[in-house]
Amino acid sequence: MQRSLSSLQHDLVPITINVGEDFKSIVWKAQYDMDFNTECLFCFSEQITGYRVEDEEGHSGKVAVCPHCEKVNAIYA
Ligand SMILES: [Zn+2]
Repeated sequence: MQRSLSSLQHDLVPITINVGEDFKSIVWKAQYDMDFNTECLFCFSEQITGYRVEDEEGHSGKVAVCPHCEKVNAIYA
């Protein structure tokens, strides 16, 4: 039995959104999920917010976004 690496990666990373991208709340149909008491990787903010999103290919996932600089800090499940 063989499984290509690309299909495995597709399963593990179902959305095409990357850490460091600017948050596009409308394009990604963002819905509030939860808050994280975590420092932003990109600015001094001490809290980031998680949203359920859908990327431009219709894959759904969750991203943690800084409310201050609006950059994606993490992709989570
Ligand atoms: Zn930030």
